[in-house]
Amino acid sequence: MIVPRVTDDLRRRFGQARRVAVLTGAGISAESGVPTFRGGGNATLWEWRGRPVSELSSAELLATDPKTVWEWFDYRRGLLRDVRPNAGHAALAAWEKRFESFTLATQNIDGLHAAAGSRSVIELHGSLERGRCVRCGAASALPPGPLSALPPLCTCGAPLRPDVVLFGEMLPPGAYERAEEAAEACDLFFVVGTSAVVYPAAMLPRTAKSSGAFVVEVNPEETDLSARVDATVLGKAGEVLPQFTTS
Ligand SMILES: [Zn+2]
Repeated sequence: MIVPRVTDDLRRRFGQARRVAVLTGAGISAESGVPTFRGGGNATLWEWRGRPVSELSSAELLATDPKTVWEWFDYRRGLLRDVRPNAGHAALAAWEKRFESFTLATQNIDGLHAAAGSRSVIELHGSLERGRCVRCGAASALPPGPLSALPPLCTCGAPLRPDVVLFGEMLPPGAYERAEEAAEACDLFFVVGTSAVVYPAAMLPRTAKSSGAFVVEVNPEETDLSARVDATVLGKAGEVLPQFTTS
């Protein structure tokens, strides 16, 4: 079922749901003006300083030229400085308090869910605002503003790396498993602003569906996922998500 706005039936299911899980992706951030890097947004960046994004965000480059990788991620942090969460982020933050169980997992690394007030977010791909020590493994928040010395250092004295999942790396331990458990246990699952083509996050809507949840997709356009979900609401997250609580 593909609908242009939230129907009464969807609103009723939302009202009766007890366990809700949500997966968000680049689309919800693009609505706030965050550029996307894999296509699908209005401002897709494919390269920076003449190098492809896939190379800049790779484990391979981190191993040979960590300074360039840091410069790239610090540039991306700079892009977020004037970015604010939108009505979609705000709706999800409000939903957190509404259900017996609510799990929000995101592929985004921009921190906008937390900025909107979500208190518990599974960051499947890490965060631009943190570094992680290459020696002791401790994660630490980066200081606000542009980084002065690259790479920044851990309190133990060793260099930090961005606490972001790079191409060629596994997801952080435990993060995917928690999202998967929520997908298995929920009765209503939302996939928002992503066509969920990047594995393993792409498995989550399928896991939810095969575990018996009703799966709702919210995307501006039909995607490969649309044929496999129970309902697709076409529109921006910022316009569609608030409709679940207003008639
Ligand atoms: Zn350390």
